[in-house]
Amino acid sequence: MNRHQVLPHVELSSEPNALKKVDCCAPQSYKGTGFLSITDMPRVADEASTKLPGDGFDWIVQTYFKDSPGSEPHQILELGLKGRLYLVCQRCLQDCVVDLDEKCRFILMNSEAEADAYPIEDEEQEPLVVKQHFNLLETIEDEVLLSLPLIPKHPEGFCEPHATIFGDVGDEQPENERENPFNVLKNMKKN
Ligand SMILES: [Zn+2]
Repeated sequence: MNRHQVLPHVELSSEPNALKKVDCCAPQSYKGTGFLSITDMPRVADEASTKLPGDGFDWIVQTYFKDSPGSEPHQILELGLKGRLYLVCQRCLQDCVVDLDEKCRFILMNSEAEADAYPIEDEEQEPLVVKQHFNLLETIEDEVLLSLPLIPKHPEGFCEPHATIFGDVGDEQPENERENPFNVLKNMKKN
């Protein structure tokens, strides 16, 4: 691809079904924003302890090509997510609200082999294998799941009184407990 050519910008549809087939191999860049209700994301819906009408996530996506010395330009996809859902607090077993406000960046790859060869130490972006009919909805859903806390809990002192059954489960967890599911799932995805 000629890196000096001007690529067309395509506006992504906010329709959930349209997000299931995005041509990420075409020489064009995308941007778009929308809202996905929890019912559009069945795996997220399975995690939610309570589903209220209007629960879901605002998303914003943009892709662009970034020059890379000595090779083809890389295609980058940036995703932002904002929203909330209810999970079961592991201390008092009542609903607790979890607010997510996440941003992530992917470098798009055309094959699993290419993605496997990508340095895992790169913390700024991770490889994502795309196809001509790429399911962006699934990627958004994956990212919501990866962003959920491993052990959801009310903030200290905000648990439902008299509901503690198992005591303070998980209080010895390290501060970076949210890192762990991310890495575990990332490795699972690659294998
Ligand atoms: Zn609680």
